[in-house]
Amino acid sequence: MSNIRFEALKNAFSHKPIVVNEPEGKVKDYFARDVFTREKMKEYISRDVLDQLFDDVDNGRTIHRDIAGVVAIGIRKWAIERGATHFTHWFQPLTGGTAEKHDAFFTLKDGALLEEFSGDSLYQQEPDASSFPSGGIRNTFEARGYSAWDPSSPVFLIGDTLCIPTVFVAYTGEALDYKTPLIRSTASLCHAAREVCAYFDKQVKHVHANLGWEQEYFLVDESLYNARPDLMLTGRTLMGHNSAKSQQLEDHYFGAIPARVLAFMRELEYEALKAGIPVRTRHNEVAPNQFEMAPIFEDVNLANDHNLLVMSIMERVAERHHFRVLLHEKPYAGVNGSGKHCNWSLQTNTGINLLAPGKNPYQNLQFVTFLVNVLMAVQRHNGLLKASIVSATNEHRLGANEAPPAIISVFLGKQISAVLDKLEHAKAEEAIIINAKKEMKLGVANIPEILLDNTDRNRTSPFAFTGNRFEFRAVGSSANCGAAMLALNAAVAEQLMLFKEEVDKRIEKGEAKERVLFDVIKKYIVACKAIRFDGNGYSEEWKAEAAKRGLDCETSVPLVIDRYLAPDSIKMFETTDVLSEAELQSRSEVKWETYSKKLQIESRVMGDLVVNHVLPAAKRYQTMLLQNVLTVKQVFSADETASLNEMDYSIIRQIEHHSGAILEGVERMTEARHKANRQPDERSKAIAYHDHVLPLMAEIREHADALELIVDDEMWTLPKYRELMFVH
Ligand code: ADP
Ligand code: MG
Repeated sequence: MSNIRFEALKNAFSHKPIVVNEPEGKVKDYFARDVFTREKMKEYISRDVLDQLFDDVDNGRTIHRDIAGVVAIGIRKWAIERGATHFTHWFQPLTGGTAEKHDAFFTLKDGALLEEFSGDSLYQQEPDASSFPSGGIRNTFEARGYSAWDPSSPVFLIGDTLCIPTVFVAYTGEALDYKTPLIRSTASLCHAAREVCAYFDKQVKHVHANLGWEQEYFLVDESLYNARPDLMLTGRTLMGHNSAKSQQLEDHYFGAIPARVLAFMRELEYEALKAGIPVRTRHNEVAPNQFEMAPIFEDVNLANDHNLLVMSIMERVAERHHFRVLLHEKPYAGVNGSGKHCNWSLQTNTGINLLAPGKNPYQNLQFVTFLVNVLMAVQRHNGLLKASIVSATNEHRLGANEAPPAIISVFLGKQISAVLDKLEHAKAEEAIIINAKKEMKLGVANIPEILLDNTDRNRTSPFAFTGNRFEFRAVGSSANCGAAMLALNAAVAEQLMLFKEEVDKRIEKGEAKERVLFDVIKKYIVACKAIRFDGNGYSEEWKAEAAKRGLDCETSVPLVIDRYLAPDSIKMFETTDVLSEAELQSRSEVKWETYSKKLQIESRVMGDLVVNHVLPAAKRYQTMLLQNVLTVKQVFSADETASLNEMDYSIIRQIEHHSGAILEGVERMTEARHKANRQPDERSKAIAYHDHVLPLMAEIREHADALELIVDDEMWTLPKYRELMFVH
């Protein structure tokens, strides 16, 4: 009898590391080889056009169509020289991932070759918007949507295709993607932060947000992957008993990288570097077959484009190495899930990191100002920030196995906490000393310059201060980090605006600036205590404590999504010009809809797996045992038969029990699914899936996993956890 699992294992063991084609030269020779960088633009586009373009980009102004026309000619020339035949607008629809529609550079008209790529096709395209979710925006407004060039992110080549980063919006201007509001949020934050910087340093003309992401992922051999319909169709295993050995020994973390994986990683790095993504670190993660890659941080918009690009490069390179990359947050129950830590900081055009302690008292007061304002923003919008990271897939990770809990809090560490405590209890006169020369000194806030103390780290915190940046760790590995970053940017922008308003009012009344700053900061330190938590985020006590502090403790994803439409969130997004109420409404609709659809698919696949894989294997084994019982009866006396058959009887009954429970569970699950589908709106549908379908899936899984332990290994057809996680 053939068994697809053994076939798959045989294939998997035959896969050897493949030879990686190394690009020639040093990293600097091939870094950004496939990107039309500013440097390269100078070779193809005239000086005055570029000056205008860069000036507009750097100051967030719209690019004139005439400029776009000239730039398009340069882009086309460069791309065609590099062998490109097609171009695409590359955008980030609300479904997640990226979308492309390829067009050739040329077309035929009356038998003659005609150039297709003009300024207009660079500037604007009209993809078939109806196939992307809009959460009702197009019904309410206007049917069409278009993609428009984002000149702040450079165009690049993938194979023979020129990719143009674009925003995706409805004809009436509503955003249908993640990039548009992300760009709006950075504009708002930049403005608000610059205004606050003016209290400390008039030289600051521009502030921007940085993002350094850390992408975690699993690799699995392609043959084993193909033998698991759940991995193929949902990205995670819907069943599978824990492997006897998994991550207990933590021997995978920072262990030697297996040869086949190393070959994959090297090729991935070459491809990423050629695409201008400054990847720097690679290592094993905690779970077996789990890995991580991280680049050097960049401006948040560019960094997010690079993350999305890396996710698709990963998938392509993995296939060449006979691997599949699992970007799902929780491919395997019971072991670590994958996140995408988002390291976030604010930087001025004068080179100052506003979230790093500075060299002089003004810089230190500025640092504390920004730090405390971030704390306030995260506290006021902790529910919304959670909404920005929840999904049907991240739901399985949050609050399980070493993942951040489903409550947003901030870890500061001992040193910074001590600084804030001191400030809180200090008097203005002792904290801020102004001498005769009008120089300021910080009496108490004596902030050590180097805070990167690696022992003072807390892996359980969803939002941690790590010396010179915040690390938003609750973001999921498959997510577009734009969703989280735009919420954070906007929340901090709003907070800085409120801060400035309060400070200015008092300065206008004649109070001294330093005194006012100190007073307001001190007030904030007291006000933001609820969000600060340095303890163990996994503990039960913390859940109780967080509820007492008034933090958002909701764990049901469909209900967390409600936070987008809370009055505070709407007000915040509207005052910062990041998202309108209609856009928030549409985004929530899409989130609910996506949630239900994912669960619907999972539940169907689960039904198929148990009915067509698990139960037949169990039945086959049960039949074998029953035959054995009969044979024993024929050979032995009645007395002996009873004791000889005892074990078989027990297993036969267990199989009967679990099989019966599975069949009955599938029936109830199907019924629950149908009932959920009949709900009148997306929100109630998502709630029904969460409340009634999800628990049944867990119940069925328990019985399937129990059968896996009982049934003869040779009869089991689905690759087991130990195989998925340890073969490489
Ligand atoms: P760890 O695993 O200890 O958190 P990594 O080196 O894996 O550290 O990742 C750190 C990430 O943080 C990298 O992407 C790095 O570029 C980024 N990073 C470092 N400094 C900053 C900063 N000031 N602002 C934003 N990101 C930063
Ligand atoms: Mg990290």
